[in-house]
Amino acid sequence: MPKIKILITGSSGYIGSCLNIYLKKSFEVYLVDKEPYQKWSKVSKKYFYRCDLKNKIKFKKFILKIKPDIIIHLAGQSTVDESISWKNYNDNNYLVTKNILSIMNEVGINKIIFSSTAAVYKPKDKKIYEKDVTAPSSKYGKSKLKSENLLTSNKKICSIIFRFFNVCSALKKPLIGEYHKPETHLIPIMISKFSKNKVMEIFGNDYNTKDGTCIRDYIHIFDICNAIKKSIYFIKNKKCGNYKINLGSGKGYSNKEIANIAMKLMRHKTNLQYVKKRKGDSQFLVCDIKKAKNILGWKPKKSTIKNIILNEIYWNKYLLKKNVSRV
Ligand code: UDP
Repeated sequence: MPKIKILITGSSGYIGSCLNIYLKKSFEVYLVDKEPYQKWSKVSKKYFYRCDLKNKIKFKKFILKIKPDIIIHLAGQSTVDESISWKNYNDNNYLVTKNILSIMNEVGINKIIFSSTAAVYKPKDKKIYEKDVTAPSSKYGKSKLKSENLLTSNKKICSIIFRFFNVCSALKKPLIGEYHKPETHLIPIMISKFSKNKVMEIFGNDYNTKDGTCIRDYIHIFDICNAIKKSIYFIKNKKCGNYKINLGSGKGYSNKEIANIAMKLMRHKTNLQYVKKRKGDSQFLVCDIKKAKNILGWKPKKSTIKNIILNEIYWNKYLLKKNVSRV
């Protein structure tokens, strides 16, 4: 039987590059990104196409050439930064999704798996369910919700919309993990800073939470890749339907707890520095994951916080050895 053909957009990013390594054992995986791939991402040139997805004509040519069965659309402007213009978010998230859907309609592809975010929800101090109210406060969240609505209003295309919570850590074999420049996420910044004896800034300690710091739901990149693999098998024989699914571990940890666990695992003593709150941060973002379990037969296997941090430490050592700096 021929392998299912998958196209990953945004394949040079953190999730895309890990996903490629994870999926290529089972599927024929093609990659597209406007950026070149990272040197550690073990990409075969044969499967990589460099293209800005805003260029619909160029992208359509590539799609016609490879005719993927399923598109996994991860490309986009994913940094949450209110100083980035709305046009940038709208062009790279919404308009690119619109381009992909219109190409899919034109060439007859009808399955897409889409990376959305926890940032589409209206924050609340309890676990978030998929049916909860959406009311994004950031431009990033708004552009993702607008893209979700486009997908769900298209009745000819079957879509799985994953709302990722805090994706983190690294795959160990072969080793690959998170690298952004600039890095903005808590765990990679913390592990990099601790390993260099630099002061770690925590944004805010007077939130209305158990220890005053924000609480997040961290999910290991392995469990994200595994959920996507299961969703490929789920969607492959479907003709239509839209599914919105939270992906997290279902557990919340405060910034202070993360720091304490990391310090213990790294045998590191450091002064954390509490600085002012970051604009737009929600104090509590944790999801319910029953829907992912029920629909996909998935459950998190590697998302204990200890395992997440240990694998991140391992990946950080590799980056240090290669003289790659994240902070
Ligand atoms: N955070 C922090 N210091 C940093 C980076 C992040 O205290 O250098 C906090 C941030 O304010 C939030 C949590 O860590 O409370 C998770 O932030 P991250 O950017 O990793 O993910 P987000 O949930 O905001 O997408």
